[in-house]
Amino acid sequence: MPSSCSADLARRTQRLTASDPCRRLNGVGPKLVDKLATLGIVSIGDVLLHRPSRYEDRTRVTPIAEMMPQGMPVIAVVRIEAAEVRYGRRRSLLVSTTDGHARLWLRFFHFAPAQQARLVAGTWLRVFGEPRAGVYGLEIVHPEYQIVDDAAAGHDFTPELRAVYPATSGVTQNRLRDMVDQALVLLDKPDFWPDALPRDLGHELAAAGVKIDIVEALRCIHRPPPGEDLAALIDGRHPAVTRLAFEELLGHQLGLRSRRRQVKTERAPVLGDAGRGLAPLFEQLGFSPTNAQRRVIGEILADMAVAHPMLRLIQGDVGSGKTVVAAAAVLTAIENGWQAAFMAPTELLAEQHFTNLSSWLEPLGVKVLLVTGRRRRDDALLAPIRDGEPVAVVGTHALFQASLDFGRLGLCVIDEQHRFGVDQRLALRNKAAAGGLTAHQLIMTATPIPRTLAMSAYADLDTSVIDELPPGRTPVVTVAVPNKRRDEVVERIGRAVADGRQVYWVCTLIEASDKLEAQAAEAAAEALSVALPDVHVSLAHGRMKAAAKQKAMQAFKAGAIDVLVATTVIEVGVDVPNASLMIIENAERLGLAQLHQLRGRVGRGSVESHCVLLYQPPLSETARKRLSVLRETGDGFAIARADLELRGPGEVLGTRQTGAASFRIADLVRDGIWVEKALAAADDVLAYHPREASTLIDRWAGARGGYAGV
Ligand code: ADP
Ligand code: MG
Repeated sequence: MPSSCSADLARRTQRLTASDPCRRLNGVGPKLVDKLATLGIVSIGDVLLHRPSRYEDRTRVTPIAEMMPQGMPVIAVVRIEAAEVRYGRRRSLLVSTTDGHARLWLRFFHFAPAQQARLVAGTWLRVFGEPRAGVYGLEIVHPEYQIVDDAAAGHDFTPELRAVYPATSGVTQNRLRDMVDQALVLLDKPDFWPDALPRDLGHELAAAGVKIDIVEALRCIHRPPPGEDLAALIDGRHPAVTRLAFEELLGHQLGLRSRRRQVKTERAPVLGDAGRGLAPLFEQLGFSPTNAQRRVIGEILADMAVAHPMLRLIQGDVGSGKTVVAAAAVLTAIENGWQAAFMAPTELLAEQHFTNLSSWLEPLGVKVLLVTGRRRRDDALLAPIRDGEPVAVVGTHALFQASLDFGRLGLCVIDEQHRFGVDQRLALRNKAAAGGLTAHQLIMTATPIPRTLAMSAYADLDTSVIDELPPGRTPVVTVAVPNKRRDEVVERIGRAVADGRQVYWVCTLIEASDKLEAQAAEAAAEALSVALPDVHVSLAHGRMKAAAKQKAMQAFKAGAIDVLVATTVIEVGVDVPNASLMIIENAERLGLAQLHQLRGRVGRGSVESHCVLLYQPPLSETARKRLSVLRETGDGFAIARADLELRGPGEVLGTRQTGAASFRIADLVRDGIWVEKALAAADDVLAYHPREASTLIDRWAGARGGYAGV
């Protein structure tokens, strides 16, 4: 009985809320639910926050004579003149039509007999599709079409600017549109989508010309009325988009800050000064820490001496000396009788940290262990870790492995954190719990991030900046040289080696395939050995056995090798102060941050260093800009700002791989002023508008279940 059915439906929808799962909408089954989740759609609210990527103008009929091949899709009202099956390279149904003035061909490669039977001469159609230049003239392949009674009926339709959504296989536009339609109906219910923006923030928006309320904004992005500024809706300058973007930025910020508050209520071991201070460590170093290093060490030790977990991010440009800072934290944890884990993104780097920490800490009586992929099953190695002996454990992501138990983990140091996913970071923290205590966490990154970006991504962390390089460093002189002058570069290597210098030759490929990179490195090493027979050339790449790689690195460090041909495995952290010339192949293909990191491998000693960026012309506009930024500056922050402009925030944060920092609507660059406002407002909203804050957090955290950078 239809009436009771719809009454039932009405009752059901009465009860629906925005946080209900989207399967409560009509026509959404379990299979679809899984696919929607990959689009970030889990709740009904997520459906409303799924922003269209573009719009189709279905507001008017375009005369065939006005159509442009390869332009925008159009609506046409046409009468069929003839239809026949053609057997060309592919069988197709070709339909010739006219609007009385000009001819338009419709072509179908897939068609059912029943469909063919209805597409006969004299039939009127309203079609929608993108015209292109076909064999016989203007043609639309697989148009959407409806059979209509006559020309007048063809012109009788509701004009619309139809939203086109980001979709995925198995989720059609029709399905998404239908779900959005149902959700838009729910928006009419009072309290379904409360305006959660505190009033003064609403005033700020209005003062900046954003006068649209949240419900209107949602309607506008999904179902813009004819005449709406589509370009502004798409590029995000439209007030409806700004309204949503600001709310998202605020919700994101609130989420991070409240998470941080929650972590700060957890208990952590108190790791204070155990008596002898850091003087013994500093004596081992052979240099005196910079003021910046001392300040940051002080900030870390103050955090660790408190019974709540430290969550601190250390930013320091390449070569600023982060390892020493971490060593001070590690030593403090161990002197308090707790374990410290020090995690690096690559084996090479883990080995280097292991060597450094061992040489600094072993003389002070600290046991340092190395756990890499291969050694994680070595029980003799793992037993002290499991038994809670106060040791320092250096390793790669092998440290996360479920099989590795820390008996008494008090501190996690994560080096070059942009290389690790959010989940990994959390996994290590969760491991830490011992006797209900959470470990302190120290995260180190050499990727300088502009302030607003850092604050919006890492609002859950305290930040320290090592804003000073150790004394005696000289800037790296950087030149860009086209590939055809490679021979000159090789000669230059010969001269540098004759002068007692050491050289890196870095092979890079656009596809980061270990195998191809390794092959390229082998070929380059071979070519160099042939061209410079007196020069000792060696290799380091990701496909070599750890021991072989380590041997090559050690030999290079010891000066027994003149030229190290390497892949980007040396990108982070590798430290050989005597190396003063670096050649980077295919430099035009790398991003600024990566080039800056690579170049940071030289310029660590007191002799002047050089970096040659070999490129394959012609250079694209952005590649040219990248190379010139590098030639002009060595300042990591200046480079990061340029990078942000050239690539956008997702790439700068290195989150492309990790999937974090993906806002649904906001764009940290486009909405920059709103980022500032959200940062400024967040603490007040948490303090004085807790209900609104929790609405905003729930609304925007949604399917992704977390926040950028967390
Ligand atoms: P990064 O910040 O890139 O990780 P490292 O910790 O690898 O830098 O340090 C780079 C180099 O500088 C290392 O050889 C390290 O021993 C050295 N170094 C660190 N601090 C100082 C200092 N205060 N004075 C002199 N050399 C230092
Ligand atoms: Mg480092």
